Amino acid sequence: MTESVLVEVKNLVKHFPITKGIIFKKNVASIRAVDDISFEVERGKTLGLVGESGSGKSTTGRLILRLLDPTSGTIKFDGSDITNLPEDGLKDLRRRTGIVFQDPYSSLDPRKRVVDIIAEPLVIAKWGGRRKIVERVYELLGLVGLRREDAYKYPHQFSGGQRQRIAVARALALSPDLIVADEPVSALDVSVQAKIINLFSTIQKELGVAYLFISHDLSVVRYISDKVAVMYLGKIVEYGPSDVIFEEPLHPYTKSLLTVVPVPNPKVMRSRRPTLLRGEIPSPINPPSGCRFHTRCPYAIKTCSEEEPQITQAKPNHYVLCLFWKEIEEGTLTPQN
Ligand code: SF4
Repeated sequence: MTESVLVEVKNLVKHFPITKGIIFKKNVASIRAVDDISFEVERGKTLGLVGESGSGKSTTGRLILRLLDPTSGTIKFDGSDITNLPEDGLKDLRRRTGIVFQDPYSSLDPRKRVVDIIAEPLVIAKWGGRRKIVERVYELLGLVGLRREDAYKYPHQFSGGQRQRIAVARALALSPDLIVADEPVSALDVSVQAKIINLFSTIQKELGVAYLFISHDLSVVRYISDKVAVMYLGKIVEYGPSDVIFEEPLHPYTKSLLTVVPVPNPKVMRSRRPTLLRGEIPSPINPPSGCRFHTRCPYAIKTCSEEEPQITQAKPNHYVLCLFWKEIEEGTLTPQN
């Protein structure tokens, strides 16, 4: 683990048991939400985590904040193993991390004034007296582009974008090293989305905070991410620097997600062949055999349902989970219909 790495995740697994019976509970199956994934988040940088709903992105975000207990694997935060720390050992992690949720309408308590909402983590951490905390709230409001007077309003008096600014201010209260932003712009109008993404970028430049930025939309993570991990049915299927993932994707799933995302490079746009997906994402209770993507992959052949691919370094810093990425690149394996 190098100095620049803030979060290191290795072989992380989270299975949710499905039980039957009232008194004598019996495990009958499990939801394999996250299934053996590894990645890093660097200090002051952004890892974009992308995939459809049900791919395991949000579970991953909650696992690295230890809001959920992992089934197996390891999570290191700033060099310390936090995988199995009990709740009373997580104080330092709670202080050094924050979360911004998707829906700014439900994530803020409508009965509380903004000053009390933003002050909450400071009060819990016994950060200082009332006066000091209120000054900090004013400072945070300025940081997210709101005014001092806004401290004394209620959430319903703000627009969606402004409420998300309040949520960001609350997440920043204790000057965290990491913020998990879980679909932070998907409930907002397109015109507001760009402003909030810019806000995240500006704050990162000013404060050096790292982000795990979760989104179902690759175009949203493009401008903010240094690296991107693409998830499908509990697995990371492609991982690498953002510009490489956008301009030279290797996995058929990433290619399909990118089919609808424009890039400002006419050569790249011309060279892209549309890769269209079949059907819906399968259930994580009983994922497909072999490569989990084979039921939807246009390139799938018989071997894909029999053999499980392992994550492979295809190019420097660029990893892919596909048995035939090379053949697809070389054009010796083409779409099957
Ligand atoms: Fe598609 Fe087969 Fe590669 Fe899976 S292993 S992504 S099914 S070509």
